[in-house]
Amino acid sequence: MTRTVYVNGDYLPETEAKVSIFDRGFLMGDAVYEVTSVLDGKLLDYAGHEARLARSLSELGMTNPISAEDLLAVHRELVAKNGIVNGLVYLQISRGNAGDRSFVFPDASVPGTVVLFTQAVPDLDWPTASKTGIKVIAFDDLRWGRRDIKTVQLLWPSMAKMAAKKAGCDDAFFVMDGVVTEGSSSNAYIVKGNKIITRPLSNDILHGITRAALLTYAKEAQFEIEERAFTIEEAQNADEAFVTGASTFVMPVVQVDGQPVGTGAPGTVAKRLREIYLDEARKAAI
Ligand code: PMP
Repeated sequence: MTRTVYVNGDYLPETEAKVSIFDRGFLMGDAVYEVTSVLDGKLLDYAGHEARLARSLSELGMTNPISAEDLLAVHRELVAKNGIVNGLVYLQISRGNAGDRSFVFPDASVPGTVVLFTQAVPDLDWPTASKTGIKVIAFDDLRWGRRDIKTVQLLWPSMAKMAAKKAGCDDAFFVMDGVVTEGSSSNAYIVKGNKIITRPLSNDILHGITRAALLTYAKEAQFEIEERAFTIEEAQNADEAFVTGASTFVMPVVQVDGQPVGTGAPGTVAKRLREIYLDEARKAAI
């Protein structure tokens, strides 16, 4: 089925949607994005994604070409037009078409390019991986220093995923200065007893919307939270490990750099946290 996508005010079949070759998102990676999950036709954690988008744009000195009200309406319209029950809405805003290639930002009068599209994922709530867990490798974190801004510069994370795949694994834990920063497209956690350990927020990691929501729910469920960095060895010796992301929710990690974590099977804490997250996120979905 041909999807209906959104480009700068228009709903179009995906085969007819066009962006200029001079677009700074294409030439310079000068664009930010968000991915919002859809369950039962409703948007999860939408307010968080909207707030982070505003922050990413502001950190890069970009003005948002679309109002908050219109952006929510476009999300909902695309979900409806494409009959999405479970899936994702991808949103990207670039600094627009500068009409030429230059390192210098175009004049503020050049409008940004707004693109949104959907992806149907019928088993988004409980995919096989959420039951079997995933295997991760350790991978040098060679990304730029502003990982708190959600830019489309995803080449290093893509290289990390390819290295993981080559090693017969699913994903990577990025490592910088001897400690884990985050997953290649997720925030990383370990569990010791009743304690959930995850790196504190800084420019070194993306401020995950799922992370923020999950930590709140986990505190309410009487888990202890310790925000500090951990090593690969610590993850290998932890009771459990898991990652969070808007499209993966809470995903158990059963192997870290060749070593099984805990029993080598998904743990009870990760399973419980996934259930809690899904319950709460569904209740708050719009
Ligand atoms: N870190 C990185 C590097 C990511 O790409 C993502 C997913 N976009 C996350 C963390 C998780 O963030 P969120 O929960 O907002 O999807």
